[in-house]
This record gives sequence, structure tokens and C-alpha cells, in this order.
Amino acid sequence: MSYRRVTPGIISKIEEIVGKKYVLTEKEDLEPYSRDETPGLSFFPEIVVKVENSKQIVELFKLCNKEKIPLTPRGGGTGLTGGAIPVKGGIVLSFERMNKIKDIDRENYMAVVEPGVINGNLQRELAREGLFYPVNPASMDSCTIGGNVAQSSSGANAVKYGGTKEYVSGLEIVTPTQDVIKAGGKLVKNVTDYKLIQLVVGSEGTLAAITEVVLKVIPLPEVKIDLVVGLDDLSLLQSILKKIWQEKIILTSIEYIEEFAVKITKEYVQNPPFLPSAHHYLMIGIDGEEGEVNERMENLEKIFTEENVQDVLVAQDRKQQEDLWKFRQSVREALLNSGASMVEEDIVVPRGKIVEFMEKSKRVYESYSLKTGVYGHLGDGNVHYNFIKPSKEEKNWEENVEKALYELFKIAISLGGKISGEHGIGLTKKKFLHLALTRAEIELLRKVKKAFDPNNILNPGKIFDL
Ligand SMILES: Cc1cc2nc3c(=O)[nH]c(=O)nc-3n(C[C@H](O)[C@H](O)[C@H](O)COP(=O)(O)OP(=O)(O)OC[C@H]3O[C@@H](n4cnc5c(N)ncnc54)[C@H](O)[C@@H]3O)c2cc1C
Repeated sequence: MSYRRVTPGIISKIEEIVGKKYVLTEKEDLEPYSRDETPGLSFFPEIVVKVENSKQIVELFKLCNKEKIPLTPRGGGTGLTGGAIPVKGGIVLSFERMNKIKDIDRENYMAVVEPGVINGNLQRELAREGLFYPVNPASMDSCTIGGNVAQSSSGANAVKYGGTKEYVSGLEIVTPTQDVIKAGGKLVKNVTDYKLIQLVVGSEGTLAAITEVVLKVIPLPEVKIDLVVGLDDLSLLQSILKKIWQEKIILTSIEYIEEFAVKITKEYVQNPPFLPSAHHYLMIGIDGEEGEVNERMENLEKIFTEENVQDVLVAQDRKQQEDLWKFRQSVREALLNSGASMVEEDIVVPRGKIVEFMEKSKRVYESYSLKTGVYGHLGDGNVHYNFIKPSKEEKNWEENVEKALYELFKIAISLGGKISGEHGIGLTKKKFLHLALTRAEIELLRKVKKAFDPNNILNPGKIFDL
């Protein structure tokens, strides 16, 4: 489908809908909206529209359907697959003004928020009330709840608590067909529809604009222990993980940073916290009531003793805990800054297969001599592979990365995995979708998309082509 340009006449109509000062048209103002955090990807929108409410979005959708203008929703712009980048031009629909925490309902354990609320701000606000929203992506201080819902994001706490999809109990959405739908609500249970909520969670801004989110919250855990385990021998990973699962030790986080990524991050962060001297790191968090947390820690220590793991450092105070997780959150940035460019993947496999996947994939990227930073959510079976381009002049790098990716994806799929655990398909993984989904599945997704957005005006060019 071909789209029309945003003419001065259309801009005037949009200014009438949202107010002149909320429409950006100058190139320098548009530039930050031409990219997200995906390295090397940029497409300029023709204009940016900062919406304030669902009524304005209804009017915009009406106009854009009539004029055949594409719109791309945007939250914090921290996406890693180009989801918020307007590949077909048109309008970037920015939710930055819709950033209110509308209600923290202590009786129902629910928070009602606008989509532009920054995840970390919600976390802090809830903590003041003794409440907890456990979904903590490493980008939590810049990503929005709307973006989290659209991506079905998760964070280091997912081992125990799961990801966004586990917490969305209600949504207000505006479909491109201009219906304002309130799905679910402050409900613990609800079997009244086709699970519209779950259809929109993870739909990457292609089905509807998310205008309000009702999130389940829980009591803030009493205590938390964070520790780093240094390993020189990777073969220990499998036996440690296996014992954790077998012994049914409920851990909150099991994160992993491989040797090369550890080294680069240590060099990158200004004051690296106390850290083990071993090469690879396991970062573990345990939270809950004091008694149960101590018991889990004791069980974990037994495993370390059995496996002869001695390089274990436990954070002694809040500052050390924060420094530890800051180190983990700096890994991606450190890797990105260590080369000329980077391609990043977030393959997911069943958690029991993750070590097998890592061993097989190491052979693949080494066979292509690719500098690769490996880190991520080991306990979820979701480890990130970041391929670093050493210099702009590096020959055949893109081709080799692509070949390696095909092999990695095939290994993951043969182990029962998928090509994305949390970053989504967006633009960058579109060409690999056929490896993970059957033709029938993709066809069904197309039909769903057409039901929501018959004229394909919302975030076109993402996930699959129509
Ligand atoms: C340093 C770093 C660390 C990260 N760590 C994690 C991690 O631990 N776990 C994880 O899952 N991800 C992680 N990410 C990826 C990213 O932060 C998440 O995907 C996040 O949820 C994106 O939120 P955002 O507000 O930035 O969305 P954007 O990037 O602005 O948009 C993402 C997608 O959501 C759509 N969208 C945004 N708002 C709306 C809305 N209101 N209605 C409809 N569609 C909308 C956009 O169209 C786009 O397709 C990380 C990224 C970085 C840069």
C-alpha cells in the first residue's frame, strides 16, 4: 500500500485536534523521533504529534484513515528492534504527555496508569506505598508502561514474577477503526472475551494505541538478597541451574554475564562495584519474607559447596545492591560503545535447554570469528547475543552476522525456542519470522491485523508485511 504525504492542510487539521504546540515539524525536532535504541537504524517522521487523550487519537485515526497517512506509536524510544521508528514516514504518535499515575488502589492491589508513565517512576511511587510492580526491564528509567505492554517486556525479576503479560488486568485501547475499547479492569478473574488484553500485549504498536493500563501490584517484598557468583568453568552452569530447579529453590533473578562482556563492562563503568575475580558472572536475587529468603540462601550455599564454587560475593547493603544491578544494566551500553556498530539478539529457549543452546551457539559465532557479547536472563532461557562490529571497515561483517543468526535461530527452534524472548520482531527480525512461525500462523496474524487496522495505517512495515 502506498501512503500519502502529510500536507500543510493536514497539519492544520492535526493542530486543531491536539493544539499547535504539540505538533513538531522542524527537522531538528523530528530527529530524536527518527530512531530508537536499535543501532544504525533511522527513518524520519514527517511530523510528531504529542497526544493527551484517547479522544484526540480517535480524531487522528479518523483523519489518517481518510488521508492514508501512517502513524507510529512511541513511548520512551528504548526499543531494540526498530518498533517505534516510522519506516513509512507519516506521523509519530508520542505518548510523552500521557504520563499520569491515575490511581494506586490499595484495596484491589491495582495501579491505573497512562501509557507514557516511566516504569521506574511507577516502581518508586508504589514502593512509597509498600507496593511492588515486579516487571523491571534494564531500561526501566527510560521505558514507558505503554511500551512495556506493547512489547510484553520483562526484566531481571521474571524468573520468580514473570513479565508484563502477567500483570495487565485492564487496558483502554483505541483501534485504528476508531473504537475506544476498555478490556478487563481491576479484576482478578475475567473470562468474558477472547482475551483481547493478551492480544494487544506484545502487539508492538501494530493493532491499537494503548491509552490506559490497569496493572496488578503486590506487596513489596520484606527483604532482598543480591549476590554475584564468579565462575571460571562454564560447565558448572548446567549443574548449578539443574540443582536450583531440582531443589525447587525460588529465586527472583538469575542473570548471566559471559567473560568478554564482563571485561568490557568493567572497563566501561567508572567505579565498578565489588566483583568476583572469576571470568563469568551469575547474578542472583532472592526476595520475599525474611525466613524464606534466608532458607533459600542456605539452600543455594549448599549447592555452591557441592559444586566447589567459592567466588561468591553477597551485597552487604542497599548501595552495594544498587551498584551490582547498575553494573548489570550497563552491559549493553558498554558493549555498544566497544565497537563501531552492534547487532543484538534475544533468542529464548526452554530454561532447561539454555546451557546446551549457549554451548552450541558459541561454536557458531566462533566459526565466523564474530566478537560477541553474551549476557542476559539465564533463568528465563533468554540470553542476549550482541555481535560487535570492531570497526567500520570490517569486511563481510554483516553477511557473517546474518549467516550466524540463521544458524543460531535454527538451533534455538530445534530446542523448542523462538527468535525473540522480549525485544519483539519489529523491523530488524521481520526477515527471520518465517523460521519461527508457520505460514498458517503468519496468515492468522495478518487476519488479526486486518480486523484491527483494515487500512494498515498503524505502525506499518513491522513484524510482517500485509
Ligand atoms: C539499555 C536497555 C536495556 C533494556 N532492557 C530490557 C529488558 O531488560 N527487558 C526487556 O524486555 N526489554 C529491554 N529493553 C528494550 C526496551 O526497553 C523495551 O522493549 C521497552 O518495553 C520499550 O519501551 P519504550 O517505552 O521505550 O517503547 P518504544 O521503544 O517507544 O516502543 C516500543 C514499541 O511499543 C509501541 N508502543 C509504545 N507505546 C505505545 C502505546 N502507548 N500504544 C501502542 N503501542 C505503543 C511502539 O510502536 C513500538 O512498537 C532494553 C532496552 C535498552 C536500551
